[in-house]
Amino acid sequence: MKVLVLNCGSSSVKYKLYDTDANIVLAEGLAERIGMQGSRIKHLGLGENIKISIEYALSGHEEAIKTVLHLFTHDNYGVIKNIDEIQAVGHRILHGGERFSSPVAIDNEVLDLLIQCVELAPLHMQHNIAGIKICQKLINHATQVAVFDTEFHQTMPDYAYIYPIPYDYYKKYKVRKYGFHGISHKYVAQRVAEILCDKSKVEDLKIISCHLGNGASLCAIKSGKSIDTTMGLTPLAGLMMGTRSGDIDPAVIPFLAEKERISLEEVVKVLNEKSGVLGIFGASSDFRDVIKDAGAGNDRARLALDMFIYRVAKSIGSLIPVMGGLDILVFTAGIGENSSEIRRRICEKFVNIGIEIDEQLNLENGAEIEISTVNSTVKVLVIPTDEEKMIAQETISVAKCCSSHKMIS
Ligand code: AMP
Repeated sequence: MKVLVLNCGSSSVKYKLYDTDANIVLAEGLAERIGMQGSRIKHLGLGENIKISIEYALSGHEEAIKTVLHLFTHDNYGVIKNIDEIQAVGHRILHGGERFSSPVAIDNEVLDLLIQCVELAPLHMQHNIAGIKICQKLINHATQVAVFDTEFHQTMPDYAYIYPIPYDYYKKYKVRKYGFHGISHKYVAQRVAEILCDKSKVEDLKIISCHLGNGASLCAIKSGKSIDTTMGLTPLAGLMMGTRSGDIDPAVIPFLAEKERISLEEVVKVLNEKSGVLGIFGASSDFRDVIKDAGAGNDRARLALDMFIYRVAKSIGSLIPVMGGLDILVFTAGIGENSSEIRRRICEKFVNIGIEIDEQLNLENGAEIEISTVNSTVKVLVIPTDEEKMIAQETISVAKCCSSHKMIS
């Protein structure tokens, strides 16, 4: 089956085309700066044999997706003969609210329900939905499937997801913790099960998945299900991140609005875009820069790093009792996969509960590897995340289910 995975952002479309029968990626790329000067598509085809970066005047998302589809069948760069070969499109959708606890085939009714979720994350959702509508027009023969960043966390118990504010706000507005990075955390849980092979054992496992990238969140996974996570109503909550503050005293928001004479929305923008590691270090949100400058004696880089590690460790600690223990700690995403220093420094905070990593194994970066010693009380793994593969898998199962329904009816 040929499956297209799409992630439509405000000015970008990330895509990956899979041949799931042959288990290969046919093409992948990124259309960026859509609607701006210098818009372009960076495109890789079939095992990176084709590698192009072309400037296109991409006036909007429809133009971008049309151009990507054209590249798929291009005389020189093409990887399929006809767009009709694409049987399903998996759309990464940021927010499924309480309504969606699993991936779903998109029909008009589902589209209406998705539109109702827009108010929970307007910036992302309007573009996610635009992507669906464009594909319904351009690839309308294919089954369109919505795969949600929030769905994995729908198994959290109420005492974990309800905020301690008047209950009426939850009833009226559905204000609660939803959690994000669910596709990545689910992938990690699935890989742990595959690596350990023993499915019956996996049922009992207590895992903490640390998705540490530019956005960062932790997930407590018990018996394969998310039971708590650090992000909240929005991806601003929880850990300190590249540019996001994570958890702070909410009273800081009106205080800053008054002092800086800016609106509440502007304060939230500062918390999203100018805070976190960037806010403390000042020069960059990229952890490679922070680590390099901290090593060279820059005290603000040192502080940013110390704060990040402290907050991750503190949050890991807070998730251990909610599961009644910890069997496996997993690091994933840009920092988790690639920074042996950050992994080491986080794990060092848990020496007293018997977590021990092998310094040599931990030097390996970017690979799937167990880095704990045989004596460690908790297995520590590095698992490179693959959210697109997870979306493709989910899309296939929904699409297959739809086609078997069609055959039956
Ligand atoms: P992601 O959002 O998962 O793409 O991760 C992006 C983050 O990973 C950025 O902050 C990068 O600086 C960080 N990152 C990538 N490679 C490394 C590395 N070798 N050491 C530290 N951080 C890294």
